[in-house]
Amino acid sequence: MDKYLVYGNPIKQSRSPVIHQAFAKQTEQNISYQKLQPEIDGFKEAVNAFIALGGKGANVTAPFKEQALEMCHHLSQRAQQAGAVNTLSFINNEIYGDNTDGLGLVQDLLRHGVKLTNAKVLILGAGGAVKGVILPLLEQQLGALVIANRTVSKAQALCQQFGSDKMQGCGFDDIANIDFDVIINATSASLTGEQPPISDELISDHTVCYDMVYGKSLTPFLMWAERLGAKSVIDGLGMLVGQAAESFNIWRKVMPEVEQVLLDLRADINKSD
Ligand code: NDP
Repeated sequence: MDKYLVYGNPIKQSRSPVIHQAFAKQTEQNISYQKLQPEIDGFKEAVNAFIALGGKGANVTAPFKEQALEMCHHLSQRAQQAGAVNTLSFINNEIYGDNTDGLGLVQDLLRHGVKLTNAKVLILGAGGAVKGVILPLLEQQLGALVIANRTVSKAQALCQQFGSDKMQGCGFDDIANIDFDVIINATSASLTGEQPPISDELISDHTVCYDMVYGKSLTPFLMWAERLGAKSVIDGLGMLVGQAAESFNIWRKVMPEVEQVLLDLRADINKSD
């Protein structure tokens, strides 16, 4: 049986094993998929031990994505640009790295019928997750991509790194009067029940609002957007399942259907405490 796992610290909360087992069942693949929490300084050792045991691949989540990149012999362009790897494949004693977070996001937006071609897109935040989604978003031929962050220099540095004339980096105060089609909250503010301090005027009846964070109830950002009459509000569960589907496809060469897995996962989350 081919062996896979996900590394993170913490990892208890990870739903990746459930998602990958559901994909395996659906596509009739015989795999095992477990979660593992290495010590903060024990990631590389843990990966080498798994390879020695015959592991075929692994997902990587915070805080190990940059260390995963350093271990790879081969990197996809997406992973290179993101400076982070969430999918490792172990083939003939070599390590291949990819980053599927951005594909997961783009596919979830498209699945919800969000038009990205020529769209004016605002991303709030400039952390690791944002690095991973910029290239796949730009590949959708956006009209503009504005990155606004609490620490403005980080947003500006990202724009310099990607070097696209469609991109602009700024602070939360600089975006008040722009009419965006899509606003993506990629800050971790929702995890602490907060929301980025942005103007109510950003929301109108044609604005789609997306939060990378998901949960049983709407995040503070999505609640705020809904109250102000946003066209639609979407949380990040579909992104999570979407990035997992892309990893599964890289390893097993078969693309699973996300829809039913997403419905089951949502039901499971709604049942939990
Ligand atoms: P990072 O820690 O790398 O970045 C955090 C970002 O949030 C920074 O831009 C930071 O700003 C900003 N931030 C934190 N707190 C606040 C606040 N109170 N107000 C305004 N801005 C704030 O995290 P990641 O980029 O890795 O992840 C971001 C979020 O996306 C996380 O919540 C994560 O759970 C989620 N995520 C979801 C995925 C999915 O599949 N659904 C996949 C990946 C991530 P500053 O730079 O100023 O510190």
